[in-house]
Amino acid sequence: MLRMLIMGPAGSGKGTMSERICADYRIPHISTGDMFREELKLNTELGQQAQSYMSQGLLVPDEVTIAMVKSRISRDDCANGYLLDGFPRSLPQAMAISDLDIDAVINLKIDEQLLVDRIVERRICRNCGAIYNRISLPSKVEGVCDQCGGELYQRSDDSYEKLRVRLDSYHNETQAAVDYFRDRGLVYDIDAGQAKEDVYRDIQAALAEVKGEEK
Ligand code: AMP
Repeated sequence: MLRMLIMGPAGSGKGTMSERICADYRIPHISTGDMFREELKLNTELGQQAQSYMSQGLLVPDEVTIAMVKSRISRDDCANGYLLDGFPRSLPQAMAISDLDIDAVINLKIDEQLLVDRIVERRICRNCGAIYNRISLPSKVEGVCDQCGGELYQRSDDSYEKLRVRLDSYHNETQAAVDYFRDRGLVYDIDAGQAKEDVYRDIQAALAEVKGEEK
């Protein structure tokens, strides 16, 4: 059983690291950003509600987000644990899951200078969700996914201007949620400015400690 959170500003590698953690520990990857984008694609009421906030880089209101997460983690596939990616992002959201017995919080820390290229050059496969970077991790053929041949696109909130708004919201709202878990001794700080393999090695070391404590 592993109930965990992964936190960090936009571009810190939450999505990439989450995929590896979830494959290795066989737990569902629950990304609130992905869930909102999926709702938007399906043009649901929730998707429409979220869109105006997302397109500006602002947080979707707490009550909407909390209800969506609570409903998701009550499903059967979460009975043996899960990884929440991108939630909580505010103190009220953190408090809303105070009853969940979270085992660990992976906190990805990174110099903000490094985030600009990571975000502005990021491209994502519309079909399989694989993440590329036009500078550091380009696809073999521009605009085409190496893994499935799908079309690569840029998220509309991955512009320099929206990144500034997202980073402000990280400092003004999300940092308080990190502190909430830090006060409870659950936070493992990871240097996310390193090469991907090294970031993952440090995450594995932190999680080995968590699993060791469980026994
Ligand atoms: P992400 O894919 O994690 O970068 O999230 C994309 C966008 O979805 C954010 O900029 C917010 O507009 C919205 N979002 C994702 N998670 C949350 C959350 N926990 N609370 C509020 N808004 C969120």
